[in-house]
Amino acid sequence: MTSYEEMTTLPKRLRATLADAVPLSTLEVVEQREARDGTVKTLFRTHDGHAVEAVLMRYRDGRRSICISSQSGCPLTCTFCATGAMRFGRNLTASEILDQALHFRRIEPIDHCVYMGMGEPFLNVAHVLDSARRLPDLGITHRRTTISTVGWLPGLRRFVDEVEEPIRLALSIHTADPALRSALMPVNDRFPLADVVAECRRYVALRHRKVFVEYVMLAGVNDSPAQARELASLLDPESFKVNLIPYNPISSAGGLYAGSSRETIARFKRVLARARIPATVRLTRGRDIEAACGQLAVASPTRTGA
Ligand code: SAH
Repeated sequence: MTSYEEMTTLPKRLRATLADAVPLSTLEVVEQREARDGTVKTLFRTHDGHAVEAVLMRYRDGRRSICISSQSGCPLTCTFCATGAMRFGRNLTASEILDQALHFRRIEPIDHCVYMGMGEPFLNVAHVLDSARRLPDLGITHRRTTISTVGWLPGLRRFVDEVEEPIRLALSIHTADPALRSALMPVNDRFPLADVVAECRRYVALRHRKVFVEYVMLAGVNDSPAQARELASLLDPESFKVNLIPYNPISSAGGLYAGSSRETIARFKRVLARARIPATVRLTRGRDIEAACGQLAVASPTRTGA
């Protein structure tokens, strides 16, 4: 059921009244596309016209994972991410975050959720936590919920201090070299990596859960064996697990980056393994409909479809 209009057992006028008085969702669906691999990307619009995208990923083992947004756009300007190049709208409310999940839940049962869509979750920490705490009502347990951050320290500290539920934490690192990280992610100047990693270690000590580390593999930029060793010496196997992400091309980067080859990614992973740092390579989903990591961006919310 996606609208009162489908409740044909109700009188037409009652349907209209219900739609006005108790809307089923705070979000309107503008467009929905399905990729060859079954990934679904949905573009929503808030009541005040802001664009929000979310993705449903279907895996062969039956897992159904959704990737949801915490903001319309993103005020941070990571150079390899399409969302950073679009205009920032605003923080989403807890209902607007949950309504993305509810939308997919109406299509089919879902069991995993990552806060890896548009926006920086810890810039909107109160609404993100409110929404995450309610996901079990939709069938997604805390252990299958992951919040990803660039290392926005005020929100990260609050998460570490206050969240007793076993919600997972992921840190977008992308390099262990502070100068390179500032070039890729300007937010690094504000919150130095050493402080962010220290905060992650505090989380591990307090909550006894490892932190996932995300690392986008950019050819000739951050993918050398020396850089893998540098990453390994920043991390430790008791606290961190690395997820290597094949780069997804985005037009706003203007061809600045190319993805590392499979061989280079495998070599990087071997160097980490030698240092006993566990690493996996992320499966790329939905690239043909620009639904993959870093590809969520909308040119103009009011003119979509034009
Ligand atoms: N702002 C948070 C939440 C978004 S997560 C964060 O950055 O962690 C989105 C993930 O996709 C991040 O790890 C991000 O670095 C990664 N990403 C961004 N652009 C990408 C691209 N073009 N290809 C692959 N991964 C990308």
